[in-house]
Amino acid sequence: MDNKTPNSKPSGSGKKPGKPGRQMNFYWVYAIVAMFLLTMVMVGESGGQRQIQWPQFKQMVEQGKVERVTYNGAQANIYYTQSVRDSLSGGQSDPQLLKSLYAGADASMNIPVGDDYQSDLKNLQEKHGFELRYEPPNEWGGQILQWVIFLGLMVVVWMFLMRRLGGGAPGGGQIFNIGKSKAQVFEKGEGTDVTFNNVAGVDGAKEELQEIVDFLKHPGKYTELGAKIPKGALLVGPPGTGKTLLAKAVAGEAQVPFFSLSGSDFVEMFVGVGASRVRDLFKQAKEKSPAIIFIDEIDAIGRARGKNANFGSNDERENTLNQLLTEMDGFGTNSGVIILAATNRADILDKALMRAGRFDRQIYVDMPDVNERKAIFDVHLKPIKTDNSVDVDFLSKQTPGFSGADIANVCNEAALFAARKNRKLVTHQDFLDAVDRIIGGLEKRTKIITDNEKNTIAFHEAGHAVVSWLVEFASPLVKVSIVPRGQSLGAAWYLPEERAITTTEQIFDEMCAALGGRAAEEIMFGKISTGALSDLEKVTKQAYAMVSVYGLNERIGNRSYYDSRGESSFTKPYSEETARIIDEEVSAVIEKAYDRAKDILATNRDKLEALAQSLLKNEVIFKEDVERILGARPFASAAPALTAPAPEAPVAEAPESGDTPEGSGPEGGAEEPKAEE
Ligand code: ADP
Ligand code: ZN
Repeated sequence: MDNKTPNSKPSGSGKKPGKPGRQMNFYWVYAIVAMFLLTMVMVGESGGQRQIQWPQFKQMVEQGKVERVTYNGAQANIYYTQSVRDSLSGGQSDPQLLKSLYAGADASMNIPVGDDYQSDLKNLQEKHGFELRYEPPNEWGGQILQWVIFLGLMVVVWMFLMRRLGGGAPGGGQIFNIGKSKAQVFEKGEGTDVTFNNVAGVDGAKEELQEIVDFLKHPGKYTELGAKIPKGALLVGPPGTGKTLLAKAVAGEAQVPFFSLSGSDFVEMFVGVGASRVRDLFKQAKEKSPAIIFIDEIDAIGRARGKNANFGSNDERENTLNQLLTEMDGFGTNSGVIILAATNRADILDKALMRAGRFDRQIYVDMPDVNERKAIFDVHLKPIKTDNSVDVDFLSKQTPGFSGADIANVCNEAALFAARKNRKLVTHQDFLDAVDRIIGGLEKRTKIITDNEKNTIAFHEAGHAVVSWLVEFASPLVKVSIVPRGQSLGAAWYLPEERAITTTEQIFDEMCAALGGRAAEEIMFGKISTGALSDLEKVTKQAYAMVSVYGLNERIGNRSYYDSRGESSFTKPYSEETARIIDEEVSAVIEKAYDRAKDILATNRDKLEALAQSLLKNEVIFKEDVERILGARPFASAAPALTAPAPEAPVAEAPESGDTPEGSGPEGGAEEPKAEE
């Protein structure tokens, strides 16, 4: 069938597009036919006749109303005389059509098994003289009819399903569109007014994408020279860094339609749907070429094939991926359709996707650094009415690890804070509150905490502060708070360095600082509490990463058991013996860090107490207060000398979570203040 689809809403089956109304009617016909057949089956079963009993029958015979009777083993069919028929059809509603379809009799009578009905009937016949005939049961005919009806119903149902699943045939309502691409389409001009000016800080990516924009605008310039334009580009980067925004900006700059959908939109329960959606998507895009297709989270379908194949559950995804590959190969480089896809895990994608002629370019969109954050702040501050206290430099320094989306969120939250306080302009403090809120949730000053608990929290946080202040490589402290916030009871904020690689010493110092809270509890009160949960979680992950991922342990040596492609999710790539050593080494390094933290706190007990008292009094203390109590930081130039990013740095992907030692980068600005005490 013809499948012209001028927009994402399909229309027309063999008819001209643009008349969606007619499709509905088409299905109404189906529905009516189905209803009719159903009625027939039901009517067929009851015979469409009136059932009468022997006394009634006898009475009618005596009145001379019966002309003919046929009978078989189970029932007798009664035919009235013509005059009676005429009078009946006038006054009553027995549908003649149905009657004649079935047996043509006017009434029927069940004959109980074993009764001597034949002689009774014959007696009556002799007395009143009507036609009596034995007719073998007409079961055959009835059954044929029922079968035909049944088959008819099956065909109708089957056609419904085919239309829903096939994807080839367009349909009317939503449910008939299951095989259609779910892409959101932004036509030229509408919604594609995003330009590169709206995207800040990702200059490298913009530069690479500029080429695509140029091609979409002036394809001739390239094709005349015989150049092949890349069919697709893969935007790789953590969530919220502006990948979707970039793709939209490309469409906006080039003024072409933009098809946007997520990888998971292809996936459906039904087999074959994903592939058919891919086909449909490309068909639509080609019709509107030049155009851009943007597939967000392509890892949902693009994961490497052939893994866990024994489960069979991946078949549908594989089919979808195969279809995508086929489509990408299928259209020429000059068709004017460019595919942009986004993922934050390029390493798990199927290699076939990255082959030349497919997504042969990878564009990294990283978390923004200080300057980029400033640029993003500038973009998002534009629509906000701020007073002149707002210090963008400070804000961008204060938000390490924030993505573009986080920053957009900060700006919005700040405006909400100001509106809540009925202010006309948004102040710097609103932004600070917004940052804190995004890191740790809203302050809960009303949360009920006993004095005893508060004391423990104060010493715990003071412990973090003191240790991090006195070890060389821990991130510089920004502030410490014992105001409950979100899930946490207190928190210490740090300003992590943005470093690309991390040394053993740096990780170890960070572990010491993280264990400083619990160490302080033990030193001051001789007992420890559950408040260190998130600290311990973090430290444990760091220790495991040190030993088994980054090869930073002497006994394990230069080995990494990190499986970037997630291939052996069920078997550990090392022996039991090695597993034991890993566990031992993890415990050893954590206990070593804990002992060191306790040592530091024991020698600085007076300072720890002073800091805790200050916290109890003020609830929030800043770097300056800490400096007053502890003196200037002994390792003022704590910034690591290692600034040149090693080539393998971007690979430092989290093994299981964001909590890897390689960076405070993606961790958020605060020392995860969750559930902390
Ligand atoms: P991704 O697709 O990488 O997950 P998005 O493109 O959806 O991220 O970003 C979400 C929002 O965050 C955007 O709509 C925009 O408001 C903001 N944002 C993210 N990155 C940037 C950036 N570099 N410049 C300006 N705004 C950004
Ligand atoms: Zn803690």
